[in-house]
Amino acid sequence: MKNCSKCGNPQIIIKKKHSGQSLCRECFIESTREKVLKDIRKYKLIEKGDKVLMALSGGKDSVMALNILNSLCERNIIDLVAVTIDEGIKGYREDGIRIATENAEILGIEHKVVSFKQYFGRTLDEIMSESQKNAELRHACTYCGVFRRWILNRVALEEGATKIATGHNLDDETQSILMNYLEGNMHNLVRIGPKSESQDKRFTVKIKPLREIPEREVGLYAVAADLKVHLAGCPYAGDSFRREVGNFIKSLSLKHPTIMYSTLRGFERIKPLLKRELSSKVERGVCRRCGEPASGDLCKACTFIEKWDK
Ligand code: SF4
Ligand SMILES: [Zn+2]
Ligand SMILES: [Zn+2]
Repeated sequence: MKNCSKCGNPQIIIKKKHSGQSLCRECFIESTREKVLKDIRKYKLIEKGDKVLMALSGGKDSVMALNILNSLCERNIIDLVAVTIDEGIKGYREDGIRIATENAEILGIEHKVVSFKQYFGRTLDEIMSESQKNAELRHACTYCGVFRRWILNRVALEEGATKIATGHNLDDETQSILMNYLEGNMHNLVRIGPKSESQDKRFTVKIKPLREIPEREVGLYAVAADLKVHLAGCPYAGDSFRREVGNFIKSLSLKHPTIMYSTLRGFERIKPLLKRELSSKVERGVCRRCGEPASGDLCKACTFIEKWDK
């Protein structure tokens, strides 16, 4: 094995197949942090004075993002507040909440825990057992994604946050690109990017500081920087389409280590063309039930709730 490409230390912890770089622990931590901060500047994810709401699940991605964003908070560039959403997944979420709370405490960051139960009157477990009884075939992640987005937007407004940061990494992003492409979901496809571009002021801008960091490197960063993270997998994740697509990309990456970056770069080149082609302005109104932005009479979350409450 080679020595560290940056400092010559013989104790390297990673050899990056996509760049050919070998790095020791310190240089890996430093260069990964620098890469994230550089992407924040490059894509203008954050402006001085922003109040950033970090969606903190307690998993490696959001804990790493929280730690790096905290360095901007320490330099008085941003205000930072963390929120953990308790979906109500018994035997899984409890540890995540505990670990998220510990991380926020270590860094001295204000932290809120909010739940599906509190906003929608039912846990994800209850939603799933109800939907099984009614023979609804939707995957748990569909409900979970809709309700989490709703809560994040609502909490951001309550907190006066100007940005919502999520822990999406390079694997997540390439999965989203491929999934939407495979499903022919072109309107969703063109919305993928380092930050959301909605002109609607009622939607707080979402940013993805880890979007160009592969999941493997996020995991290594968590170990190298000795972060406390929640390692368990969600019991509902098993048979999702996202998981299938993720496994496919991972297996391709073994032989073709640059494939995730090339997927991302290729997508970035065709996105402006796709946007122009698909630019039918969707008029957004207000959900008559909750007041959140909606393309129809009801937002997606309230469409589910009204159906269940009938
Ligand atoms: S895997 Fe699906 S159900 Fe589980 S937390 Fe993630 S989105 Fe929610
Ligand atoms: Zn080094
Ligand atoms: Zn609504």
